[in-house]
Amino acid sequence: MITCSVGGGDKFTETVVLWDSLASQWQLAPNEGAYVDRQQGTSCANCGSNLRSIALADAIRSAVGTDLTLQAYVTQPEARTLSVLEINEAGHLSPTLRQLTGHVLAAYPAVDTHALPVTPLISWFILTL
Ligand SMILES: [Zn+2]
Repeated sequence: MITCSVGGGDKFTETVVLWDSLASQWQLAPNEGAYVDRQQGTSCANCGSNLRSIALADAIRSAVGTDLTLQAYVTQPEARTLSVLEINEAGHLSPTLRQLTGHVLAAYPAVDTHALPVTPLISWFILTL
């Protein structure tokens, strides 16, 4: 059973996101199209995060060494030291990431990714979806 690492939900909805002509145009094999549908179209019924956002949340949780959901983690004192550069909005993670004191959103076209508003350090997570 899947548990949402963003908010802890355990109910998911499934939506087909690829249509046949697009899958054909992208020359996707049926299993590749099914993968994209699952990655993008399977979402937490509670917070709306899709599997791709949940995987990103898992990566952040792993990097900071917490078993808390991402929504719970961002409220912890240690999260105040975390710096996150989010390049374009990272799906349903964006509202949660914005709670971090060290959060910076760089969105196209306002920000040129070749001239970022901050200098990423090793402790920065760079997210893009
Ligand atoms: Zn969720």
